[in-house]
Amino acid sequence: MKLRQYQRVAQYEINRQRFKKIMKELSNNSTRITNSADTEHLPSRQNFDNECKVLEKLDGQIPINNVLLCDEAIHFLKTFHSDVEDGGHWRSNNCSRHALIIIIPYRDRQQHLCILLRYIIPMLKRQHIEFRIIVAEQAGNETFNKGKLMNAAFIESTKLFSGHCVVFHDVDLIPEDDRNIYPCPWQPTHLSVAIDEMNYRLQYEMLVGGVLAMRKEQFETVNGFSNEFWGWGGEDDDMAYRIKLAGLRILRPPKNIARYKMLRHKKQVPAKWNSRIKLLSGVNKRFLLDGLNNANYSVEKLTRHKFYTHILINVGKQPL
Ligand code: UDP
Ligand code: MN
Repeated sequence: MKLRQYQRVAQYEINRQRFKKIMKELSNNSTRITNSADTEHLPSRQNFDNECKVLEKLDGQIPINNVLLCDEAIHFLKTFHSDVEDGGHWRSNNCSRHALIIIIPYRDRQQHLCILLRYIIPMLKRQHIEFRIIVAEQAGNETFNKGKLMNAAFIESTKLFSGHCVVFHDVDLIPEDDRNIYPCPWQPTHLSVAIDEMNYRLQYEMLVGGVLAMRKEQFETVNGFSNEFWGWGGEDDDMAYRIKLAGLRILRPPKNIARYKMLRHKKQVPAKWNSRIKLLSGVNKRFLLDGLNNANYSVEKLTRHKFYTHILINVGKQPL
């Protein structure tokens, strides 16, 4: 067996053993999802400042222009943030304590992407975080499959870059407060707690959609996202169950800083409710076999743009 294949199988076995234990613990009801006030393990502003003495003062609230045009956004970035290296990589000369990969699932939302880059790049620099920005675009016109796209982007970007933390980031969510620090703490962290469209309220306790930060090994442990959710909805709830089944917890920063503006777009057609529920209800049997370890896709193109690395990915077609 080729070494690569062997390593995958070995990793799978390790996960399987881990899960046996976890399922046992679960049946004893020992895991729980934390509530939104549970922020004890997020990096505190004070610690961050102490270790990173040069940290510029964070501004708090960020005023957002949600109708900014692409040209304006890119002009701004080229003028004030030309120190970002090609491919969308930046690290501070003085103190980048964390290295993260931001994965943005994408298709046909160019203006949103420009606006997100316009705000997120300066914010991450103020936070003194080393980052790489990956735009994962689904090739073609087949039904969107966000979960598979993000799995593919994870596999490809970890081949290219180091970094212990991955942030899965919807293209249309713009952070409104730079005190919402991005690196991954010890548990998966749901960063988009309060969204303007949802009246700045968390919709439900198991929600992890929008902006989710996970350490690489945590993402591997849950076998990534499901590849089976075609069309809108479901893959994020499936991830929440994976996290729970793995005995991990979901942390959330306080809702007064984890605030986002959602940019306007046409609503996607939701996938059929029945098929989503059917898939979700089988998550505990399915998730070891459906995820990172069987994501079949091909990379059509990889381009290093100035402010991001673009990976065009073919995720195939929804089975009939
Ligand atoms: N997305 C995209 N193009 C599409 C559909 C989805 O780029 O045609 C990506 C994008 O990152 C978006 C995310 O998938 O923010 C979630 O989809 P959408 O915004 O349609 O769902 P919502 O969260 O608004 O219900
Ligand atoms: Mn949206």
